[in-house]
Amino acid sequence: MEENFDPDAVIEEFEDMSINAGKVQREVLKKILEENGESEYLNRWGLDGRTDPDSFTACVPLVTHQDLAPYIQRIADGETQSILTGKPITTISLSSGTTQGKPKFVPFNDELMESTMQIYKTSFAFRNREYPIENGKALQFIYSSKQFKTKGGLAAGTATTNVYRNPQFKNTMRAMQTPCCSPDEVIFGPDFHQSLYCHLLCGLIFREEVQVVSSTFAHSIIHAFRTFEQVWEELVADIREGSLSNRITVPSIRLAVSKLLRPDPLAADAIFDKISRLNDWNGLIQELFPNTKYIYGIMTGSMEPYLKKLRHYAGQLPLASADYGSSEGWIGVNVKPKLPPELVTFAVLPNIGYFEFIPVKDDTNCPEQEIEPQPVGLTEVKVGENYEIILTNFAGLYRYRLGDLVKVTGFHNSTPELQFVCRRNLLLTINIDKNSEKDLQLAVEAAAKLLSEEKLEIIDFTSHVDTSTDPGHYVVFWEISGEVNDEILKECCNCLDRSFLDAGYVSSRKVNTIGALELRIVKGGTFHKILDHFVGLGAAVSQFKTPRCVGENNGTLLQILSNNVVKSYFSTAY
Ligand code: AMP
Repeated sequence: MEENFDPDAVIEEFEDMSINAGKVQREVLKKILEENGESEYLNRWGLDGRTDPDSFTACVPLVTHQDLAPYIQRIADGETQSILTGKPITTISLSSGTTQGKPKFVPFNDELMESTMQIYKTSFAFRNREYPIENGKALQFIYSSKQFKTKGGLAAGTATTNVYRNPQFKNTMRAMQTPCCSPDEVIFGPDFHQSLYCHLLCGLIFREEVQVVSSTFAHSIIHAFRTFEQVWEELVADIREGSLSNRITVPSIRLAVSKLLRPDPLAADAIFDKISRLNDWNGLIQELFPNTKYIYGIMTGSMEPYLKKLRHYAGQLPLASADYGSSEGWIGVNVKPKLPPELVTFAVLPNIGYFEFIPVKDDTNCPEQEIEPQPVGLTEVKVGENYEIILTNFAGLYRYRLGDLVKVTGFHNSTPELQFVCRRNLLLTINIDKNSEKDLQLAVEAAAKLLSEEKLEIIDFTSHVDTSTDPGHYVVFWEISGEVNDEILKECCNCLDRSFLDAGYVSSRKVNTIGALELRIVKGGTFHKILDHFVGLGAAVSQFKTPRCVGENNGTLLQILSNNVVKSYFSTAY
C-alpha cells in the first residue's frame, strides 16, 4: 500500500526534534536501554535498570567492532536468547568491507529500516523544496549483493541489500514519486555487469520520465557512465531493434527487461544524434535524460575525487550530495541540498540513535601518550572541533566506535551539523609520519593538476606502504585516462611527495628514514578488476568504496595492482 507522504510535515517534525535535540537524545537512550536492558551484554555492565546518560557512560565501555564480534557471531550462529538486544535479531548486514579490508557482520532490524526510511524522507523533503520533482522515475544505479543464510539461518547481505529487499523501500520510493526505472530482476540480478547494462537500457527506455539519476555512492554513477561510453552503440541497437543484447544471459533479467522493449527506430536515432553532438561526453547525463532535476548520491569523503568527472557528465545539472550513515546506522541528513558537495554538512537526527563524540586534536602530530579525552554528548560539541563518532543504536550496538572523524561546522537549531573528514585510522605511516585518507586525497588532487593541463585525468587511485625496502616508502597507484610522457609523471611523483605536509613525514624524508615516494601507473581497467574482486567476495557495488590504502595483509589486492603496473617512478623531491 502506498503511504501518504507530506514533505512539510516531515520537515516540521525534523525541526521540532532538532530544537529539542538534548531532550530527544535522553529519551532515545532511555528507550534503547529499557528495550534491551535484559540482554546479556547490558546485564554484564551492571546498569541495574538505570537509563540516564551518566550511568550509561559510567558503566558501559567504549567498544570497537572487534569487541562485539563474538556476540554478533553467536547471534549469526543461531543462539536465540537475548544477547545484544531484547528482541531477537533476524537479519545481519555486511558492511562493505572496503573501508576496513574485510566485511564485518552487524545486526540489522526493523528499527534500522525505520530510521533509513526516516532519513530518506527527511532528506527528500528538503531536496524537494529546492528542486521539486514531478511524477516520474529515478534512474538508480543500485545493486543487491549476494544474500546468504548464516550458520544459524539468519538472512545476511549488505545493508543496502537489506534495505532494497524490504517492501518499505519500494513504498517510500513510490511515495517520493521516484520509483526505479529498472525492474527488481535487474536490481537483484546475480551479475552486476548485466545489471548495470540493463539499468542503462531501462534509463534510456524511460529517458523522458527520468527525474533523478542516483546511486548510493557517487562512484557507481561514474562507473555506470564510463561503461556507457563503451556500450552505448549496443544500447542504441537494442532500442532500435526492440531486442535485448546477447550479453544479457541471466534468464530472469532477460525476461523482465525484454518486456519493456519494443522496436523504436525514432528513439534510437534521437539518442544517437544527441550522443554524436557531445564533446568528450560533456553533459552526457543532461542530454540523455532531459527532465532530470538533479543527480543524487553520496559525494563527500572518499567520493570527492570523483566529483570532477561527475560534473563533466552532469553538464548543468545540480549535484545533490546524499546523507551520512553506515551499515551500523544512520547519522545525519543533508538539509541544504543546494550546497556544492565539497561544503555539505549533515544535521544529526537526534532520534535515530544515541550519539557521543570523542574530541580529536586537529594536529596529527600530538604525542602518542596523550590520554584520550572523554566523549561529550550530542549537544555539547563545539563548532570548529573534530570528533570521532560513537554510536548507540536500537540494534545492539552500545558506545560503538564507528571509526569516522567529523568536524562540527555549526548547529541546526540544537543539533550539530557535521562535516565528514575521513576514517580515523591512519592510512600511511612508517615511523613518526601520520597521513590520513584526506592527506592522500589532497596530495593526489595537487599532482592531478599537472595531468589536467594535458587533458588527462586520474580514473582512480590507491596507496600502499612498502616496507620491503629499507627504508620503507609510500607507493601511490594511479590509473590514468590516457598516455602521458615520463617527464610529466616524474613531476607528478615529486609533487605527490612534496604534498604530504605532515611534519613527521617531511622530517623523515629529509633524513631518509622514509625513502622516496614511488608512483606506479597501472593499466586501464585495473580498478574495475578491483571492484570485481570485492563483488566476488560478496560486497555490493552499491556500497563500494575504492580502498585508499592496501595493507600487506590484503595480498590478493596487492597482487592485482602489482600485476598491472606498467610504469613506476621514484620521487627526487628531497
Ligand atoms: P559501509 O561500511 O558500507 O557501511 O560504509 C559506511 C562508511 O561510509 C561510513 O562509516 C563512512 O566512512 C562512509 N560514508 C557514509 N556516508 C558518507 C557520507 N555522506 N560522506 C562521506 N563518507 C560517508
